[in-house]
Amino acid sequence: DFSVTLPPPSKDELGELSRSIQTLANDLNYLKKERNEFLASISHELRTPITYVKGYSDIAKRKGLTEAERVYYLEIIHEEAARINMLLEELFDFAKLDQNTFTITKEKVHLSSYLQSIYEKVLPAYQNKGIQLLLKCQESIFIEIDPTRFEQVLMNLLDNALKYSNNPATTHIKAFIKNREVHISICDQGIGIPQTDLPYIFDRLYRVDKSRSRASGGFGIGLAIVKELVEDHCGDILVKSEVGKGSCFTIVLKENFR
Ligand code: ADP
Repeated sequence: DFSVTLPPPSKDELGELSRSIQTLANDLNYLKKERNEFLASISHELRTPITYVKGYSDIAKRKGLTEAERVYYLEIIHEEAARINMLLEELFDFAKLDQNTFTITKEKVHLSSYLQSIYEKVLPAYQNKGIQLLLKCQESIFIEIDPTRFEQVLMNLLDNALKYSNNPATTHIKAFIKNREVHISICDQGIGIPQTDLPYIFDRLYRVDKSRSRASGGFGIGLAIVKELVEDHCGDILVKSEVGKGSCFTIVLKENFR
């Protein structure tokens, strides 16, 4: 017999219980609402490129197109497929973020060469949009990072700097040691972020302009992933921004080797 005899709850306890249940119900409703908004945002973001792929593949199949026209349509299809891929990867990372399953395998990295290789990877995209990209890194800095994961951090920041800049403008990547810490900053001269939004930009699914065009659309997950990964490296990320002037994201890491 497992029955337990409990003293009858006092009025206070009942009140407290009912308040806890109410809080729980509010939390659940909030989560439900968040989940629905998230699903709506995913379908919306994915639907657009899929519509393009469908539409342009119909056109590309038509008889009588010139070779150049067909290549033009195929290129659009290719770009849209790449975008779907990028969105799915972001989603996949989002799931990992939720379950804390990023694995970090650190190794010693020469910062200057590492940043140079990332610089070379993103340069073509910058050149395409007519935005200048400059890199300045103090020599002889070594850090201990997971090169792949940390690349994801920098790529996300550089991608945003490009997305939210309009020609003409310059983005600066700078790395130096200050107060025995390594500072890596990515500063753009783009649209900037309103002060009232700044505290939230690292939150999942937060986007300043909810209605902006698809060309710059993401899920609002990028910076949440960036923050999590920087913290997994025992670092901090700081942001300064001014509307119409630009934004500056700075990663601060402990220096591991010299
Ligand atoms: P998204 O996929 O929407 O770019 P992020 O998490 O990367 O999501 O960024 C969150 C929001 O912060 C963006 O929607 C944008 O409004 C703002 N933001 C991020 N980086 C910049 C930047 N360099 N310049 C201006 N706004 C930015």
